[in-house]
Amino acid sequence: MSGLYPLSVDIIPILEDNYSYLATYAPGYAFLIDPADPPLVLAHLQSLPTPPIITHILTTHKHWDHAGGNLKIVETLNPTQPSDPITVVCGSLDSHPSTTLPCFNSDVINLPGGHVVKCVHTPAHTKGHMCYLVDSAEPKVVFTGDCMFKGGCGKLFEGSPSEMTTSLLRLTSLPPQTLVYPGHEYTVSNLEFAFWALPDSSFIEGALEEARKIREEGKPTVPSTVEYERMGNPFVIAAAGGGGGEGGGWGRILREGEEVGGDELLGKVREAKDKGMHKR
Ligand SMILES: [Zn+2]
Repeated sequence: MSGLYPLSVDIIPILEDNYSYLATYAPGYAFLIDPADPPLVLAHLQSLPTPPIITHILTTHKHWDHAGGNLKIVETLNPTQPSDPITVVCGSLDSHPSTTLPCFNSDVINLPGGHVVKCVHTPAHTKGHMCYLVDSAEPKVVFTGDCMFKGGCGKLFEGSPSEMTTSLLRLTSLPPQTLVYPGHEYTVSNLEFAFWALPDSSFIEGALEEARKIREEGKPTVPSTVEYERMGNPFVIAAAGGGGGEGGGWGRILREGEEVGGDELLGKVREAKDKGMHKR
């Protein structure tokens, strides 16, 4: 894969705690991920010395804080780039009205200049939730929307624990150094829960301290990596059937001696977080 233009990702914090991203994949060419706050995203583009042509909007899912800016961005930018109309990609099962290219699991988008984006269907938060893997980048880069956050996962609005388990394992079977760009800045609260659930994990303890420091400086804690999620994300650890290690386990979530599989464990961990058990 050498010789390809090095992918560069701009983090654009929008709304309350969402992230939109601008990924430049060839000189003068880029795609956007979830540009749900058009004025901020357009201002970011205008602040660049040479604003790139936006060839694609990759939509992780249909919720307004991810897909709600698509039409406005297309309306604004298409007249400025008449020979390159924007392709709006979204999971076929989410059928968002702005979509011009509905996608399915393993669909491949070949970008001008040689980079390749693979669509990774990751249902459970919504039925049609998609993550987008830039398979050709070195290291690989994946945009995970509201499926996998740094240290957490999305709520199961339209799917079962078993579907979220499959979705998370799909993402964390990527190479360990894969960069992970999620849809929200939830890291500190996710890791607070993670440390409550797995109090014997020195990795999570250190990760929480580090994330608090980064947020105090007003900086984003993203990107993460697949390796980090395997170590510090309780939902990923549950999905993989793992547990807190020496004498710790899931003592705050399971009864003593209770043995459950990955799906069921993930369901129980999700339920504990939804109920805010770590805040009691
Ligand atoms: Zn959502």
